Amino acid sequence: MRATVDREVCIGCEFCASTCPKVFTIKMVGEDEKSFPIEGEIPEDVLELALDIETKCPVAAIAIED
Ligand code: SF4
Repeated sequence: MRATVDREVCIGCEFCASTCPKVFTIKMVGEDEKSFPIEGEIPEDVLELALDIETKCPVAAIAIED
């Protein structure tokens, strides 16, 4: 499964990256912090964690899909 982040919606709260740095990284986009997920398949050992984070992003910016 793969993660995507809608960066129009992401508020850069850093929750995803601090909880699961294997999948999410915060980068500056202009003056704003935004989350960038890894490209490609989410590693099996953090898939459950990533799916949990998807449900807890405060603005529902994360999608994890096949
Ligand atoms: S948890 Fe959601 S709002 Fe916060 S940085 Fe990650 S994608 Fe953005």
